[in-house]
Amino acid sequence: MTNLTSMTLAEARDALKKKDVSSTELTQAFLDKMDAENGDLNAYNTITHDIAKAQAKQADDNLAAGNARPLEGVPIAVKDLFCTKGVLTTASSHILDGFTPQYESTVTQNLFDAGCVMLGKTNLDEFAMGSANITSYYGNVKNPWGRTLGKDLVPGGSSGGSASAVAADLCLAALGTDTGGSIRQPASFCGITGFKPTYGRCSRWGIIAFASSLDQAGPITKDVRDAAVMFEHMAGHDAKDSTSVNQPVPNVEALLGQDIKGMKIGIPEEYRMDGMDAEIEALWNKGADLLKEAGAEIVPISLPHTRYALPTYYIIAPAEASSNLARYDGVKYGLRVLEDGDDINAMYEKTRAAGFGAEVKRRIMIGTYVLSAGYYDAYYKKAQRVRGLLIKDFRDAFEKVDAILTPTAPSGAFGIGEKMDDPVTMYLNDVFTVPASLAGLPGISVPAGLNADGLPLGLQLLAKSYDEETLFKVAAKLEEALAFKRLGVAA
Ligand code: GLN
Repeated sequence: MTNLTSMTLAEARDALKKKDVSSTELTQAFLDKMDAENGDLNAYNTITHDIAKAQAKQADDNLAAGNARPLEGVPIAVKDLFCTKGVLTTASSHILDGFTPQYESTVTQNLFDAGCVMLGKTNLDEFAMGSANITSYYGNVKNPWGRTLGKDLVPGGSSGGSASAVAADLCLAALGTDTGGSIRQPASFCGITGFKPTYGRCSRWGIIAFASSLDQAGPITKDVRDAAVMFEHMAGHDAKDSTSVNQPVPNVEALLGQDIKGMKIGIPEEYRMDGMDAEIEALWNKGADLLKEAGAEIVPISLPHTRYALPTYYIIAPAEASSNLARYDGVKYGLRVLEDGDDINAMYEKTRAAGFGAEVKRRIMIGTYVLSAGYYDAYYKKAQRVRGLLIKDFRDAFEKVDAILTPTAPSGAFGIGEKMDDPVTMYLNDVFTVPASLAGLPGISVPAGLNADGLPLGLQLLAKSYDEETLFKVAAKLEEALAFKRLGVAA
């Protein structure tokens, strides 16, 4: 076996079981590649050499003893938003300097219990707020596709470190979180697969909160099968998260390759926006044609409130963020700025002024404003009502169709430093992903093709809540028909 790091997660899982490779060899191959390339890509905030080697050794012992767990010895990366016991956890914010959790998030614990090896913690936009990974206190992440053009490109965000690491073969798969698109959009920018499960499928316990009614963990992977495998081992009921759903996790890997004949796929007319990139529209049409050739029926549908989704999201998410981030005050976590003669209010103010970056401060101010006594009804309450309408739009649509096909993002990867003129330009990245977030639906981005610059573009599939089975069946067929070559295996 020559190129260990370019295997998919499912291939590596099977090779480990057959003892074609040991977890120690595989893990070391990744650590060596990370040590060589992370200086340039900046995909990882922390590389956990010692933990990775110890977990790999344990995995090899289990494999030798015939006690292998389902993902025994499989090396993965963890977004630096998941609390990991005894390992620095930063949310890529200065305010969490030196924060080392005393506990493990449920999702990472589930994966470790399944046998996974942790390679490190990946970079992200500060507190997961952003679409280009440029708000990280630890610096920009580069998209490895930029190497093909000799340009420094963004990987998308906020799970940009995870997406860059997967695309550059610096891990087999990575954990992300998606509040308004942070798994799907970076997957689209990096030519890989990103899956956001139904809200409630994965426990939020131990994930640093951004907007609690939207936050959902999910995998960023090299293909659809790997997303299915990761999902099965991440999800499940957790009494420690009151919004965690108590439903069995479907065995979605077993459904891959199943026929989609007769399934109805909706194309929402409102997503065909004014000024839409012609290449993206063409790719979207191609995706629909391919699903039709695979036996599905293409059905035009309407999601009438789509244009209100982005403004609604940018009220609700900051409102929840302003409340969640109130806890960072210099008392319990990370950074404390306290000068001689300061009272406690001065400490709060100085700590928060020094600890949060500009984008996080902007969100806290917007959130505080829309929740304030005089503006609550006009902004927050109205946004909640519109959220109800968006949920109803999808409910009506899913009476007619099994899944919905849309583009993932309005563009391919752009240069580091672009789209910075005003925050709204950056927020527009999320136009196709936030509606499903507000409705809590499962969504997956599958790499679909390259634009004229030679950069990847993704297509997004959505299904109704808890219907990951349909989502994966359709995604697998779409992936097969598109035959996209990810970086590293590109011809
Ligand atoms: N880009 C969106 C934002 O900035 C989504 C972020 C996310 O999903 N965490 O809020």
